[in-house]
Amino acid sequence: MNGLDEAVAASGSDVISASAGSLRERFEAAFMPNYGVPPLVPVRGEGCHVWDADGRRYLDLIAGIAVSSLGHGHPALVEAVSRQVATLAHTSNLFVNEPEVLLAERLLGLLKAPGRVFLANSGTEANECALKLAIKHGTATGRTYFVAAENGFHGRTLGALSLTGKPSIRDQFGPFPLDVRFVPYGDADALRQAVTEDCAAVFLEPTQGEAGVVPPPAGYFAAAREICDATGALLVLDEIQSAIGRTGHWFAHQHDGITPDVLTLAKGLGGGMPIGACVGFGESGTIFAKGDHGSTFGGNPVSSAAALAVLDTIERDGLLENVRTVGARLAAAVDAVDHPLLARVRGRGLWLAAVLTTDAAAAVQAEAQRAGFLVNAVQPDAVRIAPPLVITAEQADSFVAALPGILTEASA
Ligand SMILES: *Cc1c(COP(=O)(O)O)cnc(C)c1O
Repeated sequence: MNGLDEAVAASGSDVISASAGSLRERFEAAFMPNYGVPPLVPVRGEGCHVWDADGRRYLDLIAGIAVSSLGHGHPALVEAVSRQVATLAHTSNLFVNEPEVLLAERLLGLLKAPGRVFLANSGTEANECALKLAIKHGTATGRTYFVAAENGFHGRTLGALSLTGKPSIRDQFGPFPLDVRFVPYGDADALRQAVTEDCAAVFLEPTQGEAGVVPPPAGYFAAAREICDATGALLVLDEIQSAIGRTGHWFAHQHDGITPDVLTLAKGLGGGMPIGACVGFGESGTIFAKGDHGSTFGGNPVSSAAALAVLDTIERDGLLENVRTVGARLAAAVDAVDHPLLARVRGRGLWLAAVLTTDAAAAVQAEAQRAGFLVNAVQPDAVRIAPPLVITAEQADSFVAALPGILTEASA
């Protein structure tokens, strides 16, 4: 333990931070109002637990929006990041660094298809890269428009936002310079209608995350692949939330037995360190020429080392198997809870939504927090559960045991 750890262990967290109440007030005064004021001030974490500024412990069932794949304070991540930051923290794209090369090779190996990688710092930037590839593909082949899904989410920067099919976050920032046509998610016929030989690319999530963890009907991605092959549109899969083990496979599209033309990654890849990746398969990997794209921080050695530690740990500790078994157990147990507020559960692996019978998700989130569990009201009627991939069956069971009481409090 270092001095800081000892101080925290000795006296809760108060020694290093102001009270939760005062930090929330100061947050409100110092930050733009785009997030409102979040309800909790976590100050440290260990495994699947976090502690707030008042010393209360919570079971983390949201993992910083499906990001903290290894939980908090995982020794492999701590070691990799600490070693790399002390060795070489940054090079920029003017130079090659070893961790970025190892990471790109590792990702291509897991994807089992020839391709090329671009490293970015976030999900939306990974999608900006994919969009620029698609624009260049469209320009070269006379294609003028893009197709994406209603209720889809691809990020907040203007390119990714223009692909985002949620009017409440999109419309006030338009009009956008791209012709993006939206189709209902999961409807293969609508996709077939929308995608012609003038379409440059189709952007889809393998399961819609922000829409409330909505999986597609069986066969949808096989149809999407076939439609894109027939028309020459690129199939771009946004796996920013779904990949890196979240569904029990390394990548969610592996459930569907297809390979996209372009794939984007972020969230769980760095285990909490900021990183994004865009992978172009086959010819899509060489659309960019020298000078077409770049990022000062992209390929940062510390984030790359973190991602390598995440991938190594998932493999070494058999976490894909843990995701499948604990995920199936959790889904079945939540589904078996008999409560008038709970309609059903959807999703796969450790990426679930408890669907409610009324718009009570915010109340369920608040009551869960009061009971010591962090979940997320992803939609007015859906509560997202996306714990670290290291969660144990016992930890999942403890949430299921508390759930009826949480639902009753939320209905009151
Ligand atoms: C979170 C998310 C993004 C945006 O990622 P940021 O890192 O917040 O920019 C894009 N697409 C999907 C599917 C996401 O879940």
